[in-house]
Amino acid sequence: MSEELQPHRHRRSRRQDSPFVRLLKTYWVELAIVAGLLLTIFLFFEQMNIRGTLLAWLQGVDDTVMGIVGRVIDALIRFRSGLGLSELIAIPLFLIVLAALLWRVRWRLRRTPALVILTCPRCGGRIHRAHRHGVDRLVNLVVPVRRYRCGGKECRWHGLRVEGVGQQTRHAPAAE
Ligand SMILES: [Zn+2]
Repeated sequence: MSEELQPHRHRRSRRQDSPFVRLLKTYWVELAIVAGLLLTIFLFFEQMNIRGTLLAWLQGVDDTVMGIVGRVIDALIRFRSGLGLSELIAIPLFLIVLAALLWRVRWRLRRTPALVILTCPRCGGRIHRAHRHGVDRLVNLVVPVRRYRCGGKECRWHGLRVEGVGQQTRHAPAAE
């Protein structure tokens, strides 16, 4: 479309985003999960009084590195003596973040055409369902997968294909 046809109000949202912005737009959920993970780690280590240590470091010019190490060691010793409020928040949060991460990995893998397409990745030939291995069932807990074998006589490829969105319970198209 030509520049004149573009309504004026759309001018601010330029189509050519920088690679960084495009990266943010594509992976914002992943980035949010990583941020959640960092927050969880922060909450875990909050107990170690890192914030206090940092504040002390910023305030006291005469606070030596050895002083900080001493504080961290003190905090570590205190950390070992029972669960605090930080852990009570951090442990459930960690589980939520982990679940979110698994969900997102599953979401993305099921939308990755190269993993979902039901043709042989080696020769492009027709593939057929095969019996699942024990490991496949473990993988299947996170991402739905099926084992396939290539029909090509020379190829003999066999491996997993991810069950794509909308492929549920529907098998590979029947041979014609
Ligand atoms: Zn093949």
